[in-house]
Amino acid sequence: MEKKEQLYEGKAKQVFATDDPNLIIMHYKDDATAYNGIKKAQIKDKGELNNKITTIIYSYLAKNGIPTHYIKTLNEREELCKKVKIFPLEVIVRNYIAGSMSKRLDIPEGTKPSNVIYELCYKNDALGDPLINDHHAVAVGACTYEDLAVIYDLTKKINLLLIDLFKSVGIILVDFKIEFGRTNDGEIVLADEISPDTARLWDEKTHDKLDKDRFRRDLGHVSEAYQEIYARLERLAA
Ligand code: UDP
Repeated sequence: MEKKEQLYEGKAKQVFATDDPNLIIMHYKDDATAYNGIKKAQIKDKGELNNKITTIIYSYLAKNGIPTHYIKTLNEREELCKKVKIFPLEVIVRNYIAGSMSKRLDIPEGTKPSNVIYELCYKNDALGDPLINDHHAVAVGACTYEDLAVIYDLTKKINLLLIDLFKSVGIILVDFKIEFGRTNDGEIVLADEISPDTARLWDEKTHDKLDKDRFRRDLGHVSEAYQEIYARLERLAA
């Protein structure tokens, strides 16, 4: 399998073609951005850590019956994945209130709501990834109602599995963002990374933030927090 031209460059990753039209290579960078690209920096070893963390999480989800784009990890920064057409949607799951929902509805961070909250954002940089509902998603052509039924079903299963995984290493899964794509065979699968860049992860005992909020809010020790998440998951995976 041969690495070919770059197909796409995002804020934290690059995607490369391969000589197989059904496969791509995902490359993790150390670049970090926040607030729709306004705040930028490099976080030491972030690319390697997010690659390793995503590898452990995707392997666990696949073992538990979740269809994903992940095939195998090639090296410290690269994964081989099925080529998918990404739905232009960010699916956000909130088990506790934090971040934008805390601000928007004036609910203190860390509040546990009576129900799990699912949100959709329309992936569109020019619009700043606005919050939308199911009907908007269908109206803008991001997906069909049938696609959404599959996406929500998988999202609920993924949330339960991730809550358990993180609980077993002393971490509260506050919230996270996931994305889905359709393979060339037409299957809807989980795609993109799941890492401290895309999830809020708090230490169960101290409530220390072990995720990208350390970068967003200038809390320091960003790389160390990602390292801590990897170390705990690695012990579990070993
Ligand atoms: N998130 C993400 N990418 C985005 C927006 C959000 O990975 O473009 C993740 C974020 O890390 C958090 C969750 O989705 O775990 C909810 O984010 P929120 O809506 O609170 O937005 P933020 O406070 O990050 O602006």
